[in-house]
Order: sequence, then structure tokens, then C-alpha cells
Amino acid sequence: MKKNLVIFGAPGSGKGTYSAEIAKRYGMAHISTGDVLREEMKKGTELGKTARGYIDEGRLIPDELMIDILANVYDGMADSTGVIFDGFPRTTRQAEALERMLAERGDVLGIVVELHVDEATLMERLLKRAEIEGRADDNEATIRRRFEVYHAQTEPVAAWFEDKGMRRVLTWKGAKEQMLADIYAEIEAAGVATPL
Ligand code: ATP
Ligand code: MG
Repeated sequence: MKKNLVIFGAPGSGKGTYSAEIAKRYGMAHISTGDVLREEMKKGTELGKTARGYIDEGRLIPDELMIDILANVYDGMADSTGVIFDGFPRTTRQAEALERMLAERGDVLGIVVELHVDEATLMERLLKRAEIEGRADDNEATIRRRFEVYHAQTEPVAAWFEDKGMRRVLTWKGAKEQMLADIYAEIEAAGVATPL
């Protein structure tokens, strides 16, 4: 039985950065749906071409497609003791699909770590990242659209997790090490994983 967790938050909230640290500390696997899609785009696959149209506009890939992709990647991680979901679920339908997928496999979702960062800081980080990584969706207009999509489609998922008693909200206080310590404390208190 895998014990999994979701890392949840707005674009630029640090999901990918913290996921890498969590994966190292606990020996967990990490699925970043954004990375999976960007890899497909780089390889020029059909899926990549479809994804590019949505990503470059700051919109979400359709649920049907995203749910299939997620299940495929998850099933490729059969040996891991637990998986960090980064960038999934982003809609209530995806959250329901995740619940169903895990139940069918006898696996569980331990907690959802929700990162709260003020929007000015998010924008600043994403614009800085644009200079370093050159992601096509890291420009000011597309970032604004991604924030809108986050508020409209993704934020409601937080309430869904709240109802399930899984939601743990952590607020950015200006230091990455502090945030990481808070995240580790939640993971260990919930018994999701123990350090290697
Ligand atoms: P960051 O990685 O800085 O937190 P982000 O959350 O906007 O920013 P990614 O998670 O890499 O970035 O996602 C990039 C894009 O990929 C999204 O804007 C969306 O178009 C698409 N995408 C990723 N995950 C999903 C998903 N679960 N459902 C639909 N679309 C997705
Ligand atoms: Mg990311």
C-alpha cells in the first residue's frame, strides 16, 4: 500500500522545489504533471502538441486526458513506497479521479500540503524564473491567466480536501528552510512517511 501526498498551491508557490526535497528526505517518488507535459512537448509527441496549445495560453489540459496520463505515470511507479503529486489535482473532477484511482489500487492519500504565498511574491518568482528557464508560459500576461485559472478552477479543490480532513495550510514567511521544516512536520505528524 502506497502512502501518497499532494502538494498544492498557486503557480510559483514552490511545489516543484519542495517536492524535490521531500522526495530526497523520504525516498518518495515525484510526479509533476507540468514536467510530464513539458517532456512530451520536447519530444514532439501527439500528446505534447495537444498540451502545448493549452499550456501556452495558461489554460488547463482537459480533465479526461490529464486523468489518463496521471494513471499511466502512477502505474509506472509501482515499486515506490509513496508518491508526491505536484500539479495534480487541479480541478474537483481530477480530485475525484485521484480518489478513485487510489482506492482501486488499495493505496491512500495521507495529506494535502497547501502552500500560501502572496501574489506579488508569486509574480516576482515567476518572472525571475522566466529569465532562467525561458518557459513560454512564464510571461506576465500568461501568468495572470494562470492565476485566474487557479482561482476559478483549482482553489475550489481546497475545500474538497478540507471536507476530507486532509488539508494542511502552510503560509510563506520569507524563508525556504522554514517552509520545508513546516512541511516535514506535517508529513511526519500525519504518518505519511519517515525520514530515510
Ligand atoms: P509552478 O510549477 O511554478 O508551481 P504551475 O503550477 O503553473 O507553476 P506546472 O504545474 O508546471 O506549472 O503546469 C504548467 C501547465 O501545465 C499548467 O498551466 C497547465 O496548462 C498544465 N497542467 C499541469 N498540470 C495539469 C493538470 N493537473 N491539469 C490540467 N493541466 C495541467
Ligand atoms: Mg512546477
